[in-house]
Amino acid sequence: MDTERSIRDRLKKAKLIVVKLGSAILTDTRGALEEERIANIAASIDGLRTQGVETVLVTSGAVAAGVGCLGLGERPHAIHQVQATAAVGQTRLIDTYESAFGELGVHIALVLLTHDDVASRERYLNARSTLRTLLEMGVLPVVNENDTVATDELRFGDNDVLAGLVTNLLDADALIMLTDQPGLFDRDPRVHDDARLLRFEWAHEHGLNALLQDTPPGPFGRGGIASKVAAARLAARSGACTFICDGRTKNPLDCLHSPKAGGTLIAAKTTPLVARKRWIADQSSPKGELVLDAGAVKAVREAGGSLLPVGVRDCRGRFGRGDLVNCVDAHGQLVAKCLVNYSSEEAKKILGAASSKIESLLGYVSEPELAHRDNLVPTTDERARKSP
Ligand code: GLU
Repeated sequence: MDTERSIRDRLKKAKLIVVKLGSAILTDTRGALEEERIANIAASIDGLRTQGVETVLVTSGAVAAGVGCLGLGERPHAIHQVQATAAVGQTRLIDTYESAFGELGVHIALVLLTHDDVASRERYLNARSTLRTLLEMGVLPVVNENDTVATDELRFGDNDVLAGLVTNLLDADALIMLTDQPGLFDRDPRVHDDARLLRFEWAHEHGLNALLQDTPPGPFGRGGIASKVAAARLAARSGACTFICDGRTKNPLDCLHSPKAGGTLIAAKTTPLVARKRWIADQSSPKGELVLDAGAVKAVREAGGSLLPVGVRDCRGRFGRGDLVNCVDAHGQLVAKCLVNYSSEEAKKILGAASSKIESLLGYVSEPELAHRDNLVPTTDERARKSP
């Protein structure tokens, strides 16, 4: 049974986190970028990276920076003007990150996503592979919504929801949302003097529902308490815990390792891997079937390994990259369920081949495995079905 203490102890060992920066801490009320604060946050991120915590940054602030840059004085009202303003601000914003992280010797990469990119399975896998590859290359991905084509976060969210989705996408251990408040309060602290800072909450407890009534967002961002709670609940679906902390402090990311640091922790009742495996185990409509040879059955069932093309004898049905597929043995007995990295057409061309041959057989390579072990649940895996 998890307790606040066990959750905080687990978070001290986090390997991958998503940090979300809202417009309110990135810019002042006129839309000028807060360069010193950004440099301070960059130093905090770098500190975690040197301790082995991989980080993806989800940033807002493009609209706000565009307002400042164009001297508009306030956020435009028409959505197409907001989108155009974001396009102006985005370059300023990324420029500021480039210098802040450049000082620390960290390369950054800009990744603009829409909700469709993380909702459709195929695009989901593509976005995931790119982000993971950037992390493997030691590059810090900086994610924003692609505001010129999408308007979800412009209308509601200030990238809070996007940050939750990116957390799911990467199976990150934690999401840290840095805001201009010390954390989540039980009531709006700007209106109620006796508002109480919430230190620890379970993501799906009813207590948080009251906060979904919301308080009005600030002058630039479209976020607010409701979208923070929604993002935390989204993150919890893939087993990630969420911190909501003050981004203006000296060490804003201290919350991850130090329970005494301020902020609110919204805890998930499961871990990322268990959440993912349970989700796969619960899927009931496979799109196809892969027939495994005896070696692959053993590797998957007993050694918890990935499924490589070399161990696959036959491929049935029509499926796309990211679809759910059953793995069976030579007698048709179900061995595992998995999410595949290649479509059925591709799988047919590479089955029986060594992973090193994928490129010459297809003309490109996505992943060396047909299904990664994190996306594969053997029928013997009780863990995947256990309740938290
Ligand atoms: N993606 C937007 C940005 O970076 C959302 C924030 C807003 O609507 O102001 O600015």
